[in-house]
Amino acid sequence: MSTHDIQSSELWEVSRRLINFDTVSAHSNLEAVEYLEDYLKEIGFNVKVITDDVDGVKKASVLAWFGPRQPGGLMISGHIDVVPFDGQPGWKTDPLVMETDGKRIYGRGTADMKIFIAQALVAAKQVVQQHQDFKRPLLFVFTYDEEVAGQGSGKLIKILPQFFEETFPMPEMALIGEPTDFEIYSAHKGYATFDLVVHGIGGHSSVPKKGLNAIEKMGDVIRIITEIDGELEQHITPENTQLFPECPPSAFNFGIIGGGLAANMIADTCRLKMSLRVSPGDTSEEILRTMEDRIEREVISKMREFSPECNVTIENLHATPPMKSPQQSPLSALLSRVFDRPVEHGAPYGTDAGNFQHIGINSYVCGPGALGQAHQPNESIPVEHFLSGQEKVEQIITEWCAQD
Ligand SMILES: [Zn+2]
Repeated sequence: MSTHDIQSSELWEVSRRLINFDTVSAHSNLEAVEYLEDYLKEIGFNVKVITDDVDGVKKASVLAWFGPRQPGGLMISGHIDVVPFDGQPGWKTDPLVMETDGKRIYGRGTADMKIFIAQALVAAKQVVQQHQDFKRPLLFVFTYDEEVAGQGSGKLIKILPQFFEETFPMPEMALIGEPTDFEIYSAHKGYATFDLVVHGIGGHSSVPKKGLNAIEKMGDVIRIITEIDGELEQHITPENTQLFPECPPSAFNFGIIGGGLAANMIADTCRLKMSLRVSPGDTSEEILRTMEDRIEREVISKMREFSPECNVTIENLHATPPMKSPQQSPLSALLSRVFDRPVEHGAPYGTDAGNFQHIGINSYVCGPGALGQAHQPNESIPVEHFLSGQEKVEQIITEWCAQD
């Protein structure tokens, strides 16, 4: 296919439009949602838009369904938001303008994951045109704020059970088209981010005993977390060793630290930005409770003896659960056949699938483009993935939904 042929395809047009909407997580996605809604209604889907207000910014998820209202359906999901590009060095093209050099297709969201959404839309249109009467239903779920620890799908799963009861039966399985180079993942870790803030008492460094140094106390907090990390390593299951050979256990990461005002002042506060990757079988709630209990016993209680104002708090906590679907299932078998490869070990990152599996929808992550391209300057996917992805999704929808 020539560059001209690629650029005159419907897939190009839909992808180009989606990439052109600035859906950086902090911004509104309503224009993109309106476009998705119009497209889906045009090809015969029922559409429900669920709007939200996040710190004054209007955002929405899209639910769209086609076919008989019965169980056993297929869900296909992707997130509409993208990571920021403003101030990110290295871009050679306008991140919001999709371009190709004949080998790769460039733009923010090409890999993560607007082209997959475009492939799913155009594929659905093709299948619907050929098979008006679906045997099993198809449900699209497009979310916002996936890049903010899955906050959009985290809110959506609170309303989905009611939607499945009143409007449309819960699908049997889900495909999430995050960039995996078309590798098939049945599991990934959960993810939590949070700030730990030590509130001490400031003062002049000439009389250290008159204050309580927050940086020094943060040292105790870091020691406790390092010990918990060591304990987590003692509880590795054989299954997690197989799924995540590079790092089987749940694990903390110290991301950013800051505190104090000057070299000659006692630091009154210290903030540590952290994350926690949670292996299947563990929960972030449980691990963080252990952490809080130990900090309370070993740090806060001693600080309070000095002053009741001292404290250690957790702020800005966002958490999304791990995902572990059966390696052998009707959808994993279909994906394995369509993409001609086995179901892989766990994905090294979190997705909306953790939330969907949490309410009982076994999910698989498989899509065009490479993880290494996501969030990078000059984000791109190979032209072959662009073209073959639509055919593959067409085949999946046809076999699951349209054939006996
Ligand atoms: Zn993504």
